[in-house]
Amino acid sequence: MGRLALACILTLIAASPVCARLVAQEADPPRVRLIATGGTISNREGGRLTADELIELIPDLARYARVEAEQFANVASSQLTLDQWLELSRRLNEVFAQDSGLAGVVVTSGTDTLEETAYFLHLTVRSERPVVVVGAMRNPSTLGYEGAANLQQAFRVAAAPQSRGKGTLVVLNDEINSAREATKTDSLRLHTFATRSYGVLGSVDRDGVVYYRNILRRHTYRSEFDLTGVSKLPRVDVIMVYQGASGDLIESVVDAGSHGIVLAAAGAGATSGTQRLAMAYAHERGIFTVISTRTGSGRVMPRRAPTTDQEMSENQQLSAAYRIAAQDIAPLKARILLMLALTKTNDVSEIRRMFAEY
Ligand code: GLU
Repeated sequence: MGRLALACILTLIAASPVCARLVAQEADPPRVRLIATGGTISNREGGRLTADELIELIPDLARYARVEAEQFANVASSQLTLDQWLELSRRLNEVFAQDSGLAGVVVTSGTDTLEETAYFLHLTVRSERPVVVVGAMRNPSTLGYEGAANLQQAFRVAAAPQSRGKGTLVVLNDEINSAREATKTDSLRLHTFATRSYGVLGSVDRDGVVYYRNILRRHTYRSEFDLTGVSKLPRVDVIMVYQGASGDLIESVVDAGSHGIVLAAAGAGATSGTQRLAMAYAHERGIFTVISTRTGSGRVMPRRAPTTDQEMSENQQLSAAYRIAAQDIAPLKARILLMLALTKTNDVSEIRRMFAEY
């Protein structure tokens, strides 16, 4: 065969989709950064695994991502402080700003409060590139440790171009959930993370990362929360509503200096009679109360404004000025949104807008 014919055949083969895929596979995989904070995923008996040791657990990692690791902390999730949240969020923003070639970041966390840390990052990391929060239910010294599999999946999700623009993602047990909605639903089982009525965003399967839906609310690159000048998050407390619940807990957090209270109310926003009085105590002192639901899913609707000719009682006026419906944001996440809202404004209509938009 003549040289020209051979060159033609080779050019045709190179242009074929099969060839293009082979070339793409051979190209360097995306770069992903691991920021390890601790949790069961690293809690090996006799000494916690470091970020570098976690990477070594995944033999085929180079197929999916080139990973650089850094150790942020190595503690149980409930030991992370709010100051560390600020630091972690700043670090992520810095990493994205300094490294435009980075595909995404994986953050390891203990699972107990993972949903809170993930939601905080969802609202404060201002990049379209994915932040994937991952953990494990079994520790590295337990038979059936699933941490390495979860971590491998988290790297694959962070490396996947289709993960961009979806906010902070929670990846465990082959499933991708949004940090806005993910919650720990079981204290022990591997399938613990779920989004109750909404369902998963996608899954991590043998052949790839697959998405089925997206969330429409604001987050990450469309978030207005900028922590640049924030050195401390305002104190916001969560208080449960239950049959006969007294109001003194509400009064005592107000007296202790709380800037806001989230009530995990019954049904679509019911509180006990004594709690209602205590809410007036909070409102008189300028403290906002966000009403969320303890049911685990569903929405608390904003109250309809009274018509102009209706006389408002003093309590109604106070509640119009300080009571905010959480919409479908779960109590622990409503606390985070209220904390961030309070770093920006004391205007109740602005905070209501945020609950409707995020
Ligand atoms: N499940 C615990 C957590 O959420 C982990 C325990 C530990 O790492 O000590 O952090």
